Amino acid sequence: MTAPALSPSSAPRVTGEPIIVAENVHKHFGGFHALRGVNLTVRRGEVVVIIGPSGSGKSTFIRTINALDPHDGGSITVDGLPLQGARNLDAIRREVGMVFQSFNLFPHLSVLDNITLAPIRVRRASKADAEARGLELLARVGIAEQAQKYPAQLSGGQQQRVAIARALAMNPKIMLFDEPTSALDPEMIKEVLDVMKELAQSGMTMLVVTHEMGFAREVADRLLFFDQGNVVEDTTPEAFYHDPQHERAKLFLSKIL
Ligand code: ADP
Ligand code: MG
Repeated sequence: MTAPALSPSSAPRVTGEPIIVAENVHKHFGGFHALRGVNLTVRRGEVVVIIGPSGSGKSTFIRTINALDPHDGGSITVDGLPLQGARNLDAIRREVGMVFQSFNLFPHLSVLDNITLAPIRVRRASKADAEARGLELLARVGIAEQAQKYPAQLSGGQQQRVAIARALAMNPKIMLFDEPTSALDPEMIKEVLDVMKELAQSGMTMLVVTHEMGFAREVADRLLFFDQGNVVEDTTPEAFYHDPQHERAKLFLSKIL
């Protein structure tokens, strides 16, 4: 597959058929209404950045897509599979990789074993095949030489790149990122964003919760602004940056820039 050319961020890239369709999605935590009727269609190959105030439902929304937080109203369809209770859950989780702010690597496993664990256990890959692919992925994220180390021996930026390689080892069709650089020292943010940028250019469908406006403007096709459990702006990063419509968005932007 050839990577889609990057177009100016003011013009959305022409992309494929819908791969994530969320319709009127709701989520409650006890009496708290965290998602209030989210509608969103993401097309294959699209890179969508999600920003918004703390507590606005950004994490909850992306976690509903692989049912880490099951939604309790509306519908979510991933690559044509409706997500309803346990139905299709395993199939959808296999298609959706996730990277968290806190890396979540297994501390007692080497870097390479972190990456090969799921392919061997879930995909029934042979150890040799999983390791060959793991080393390829580590080279792709720029840390092939760290394969035998343990997570604690790596910098935060390196650990996050391992986490990305680990998610990619399952050959996902969609990658979800929840503030992947928020826990990193400033000098390590770029090395992680560069890996994400390469992934975007390779054609991966990505939903990225991040406040890195530079990344959004350079890489994203669309920008969603969340407020109080809903998408209140759905636009291009350039349009959002220069002319946010919603009052809450203007205020938010003035604080992060
Ligand atoms: P964001 O990622 O935009 O900061 P979240 O999606 O994490 O926001 O949270 C949205 C709201 O839902 C917050 O008010 C949060 O406290 C609440 N919430 C999130 N997860 C849980 C949970 N597991 N139990 C109870 N409340 C939760
Ligand atoms: Mg969050």
